[in-house]
Amino acid sequence: MNILVVYAHPEPRSLNGSLRNFSVKRLEEAGHAVQVSDLYAMNWKASLDANDSRVAPRDLRFDPSLDSKHAFEHGLQSEDIAREQEKLRWADTLILQFPLWWFSMPAILKGWVERVYAYGFAYGVGEHSDARWGDRYGEGTLAGKRAMLVVTVGGWESHYSARGINGPIDDILFPIHHGILYYPGFDVLPPFVVYRTGRTDEARFATLCDELGRRLDDLANTAPIAFRPQNAGAYDIPALTLRPEIAPEMNGFAAHIG
Ligand code: FAD
Repeated sequence: MNILVVYAHPEPRSLNGSLRNFSVKRLEEAGHAVQVSDLYAMNWKASLDANDSRVAPRDLRFDPSLDSKHAFEHGLQSEDIAREQEKLRWADTLILQFPLWWFSMPAILKGWVERVYAYGFAYGVGEHSDARWGDRYGEGTLAGKRAMLVVTVGGWESHYSARGINGPIDDILFPIHHGILYYPGFDVLPPFVVYRTGRTDEARFATLCDELGRRLDDLANTAPIAFRPQNAGAYDIPALTLRPEIAPEMNGFAAHIG
């Protein structure tokens, strides 16, 4: 497989750096082709703005969506964006690896998503009609590819359990899993989460590598999270609410998993 690791940690000697090195070695030894986008090392520009196009905004007023569409359609995107899109086209599997910072991904990685996911590339694709609301949530440019998060977390596993004070980890990661990965078409695998990172020593690191190694060995066979596709009948269109007969007792994030 072709595997793209998009990695966001500023310190190569961190736990994240060690886990990233382990993953790349493991995947390459298994015969996969691996590319790493090491965002801090690349000095990745995190903010989406008018400089993301190689021409001035079509209008005097910069429009983040429409200028992105224009640049994408006319080959005018800045080269760093086009390069990352090419890596995504190349990849069969995407791994996003990051420390949980303020209950989400580090800003530099959010900026990678905002800039690389151009209008016409990751959103705004497909037919919009009474029966369809574009190719998204299970369909789209990146359909047929797999994605998985590798996340390190300072808090304990219990803090992120069903009744834990931080909220369940599946809820915290839902906007990334469903909104960032499933939306443009990825099949999303269950995440690999390392809790209580401060308690890592040599012995625990070895255990973590064993566990992560098994997940990497199994990338092609792991069942994805069963998110409900948008255009397959579970949702009323255009309201885009679940039809009344689908999981009538459920609300919120969990209702979108079948
Ligand atoms: P490091 O600090 O590099 O390492 C963690 C431990 O692993 C250290 O003890 C280190 O000695 C050891 N270690 C590293 N490499 C190895 C190795 N090769 N072998 C053996 N031991 C090793 N946590 C939450 O739960 N929720 C939050 O919302 C949250 N927000 C945060 C916001 C910010 C801005 C910051 C800075 C932290 C936040 N944290 C939060 C904590 C954060 O998630 C953890 O600090 C992070 O996941 C740890 O990953 P790291 O790679 O930085 O670990």
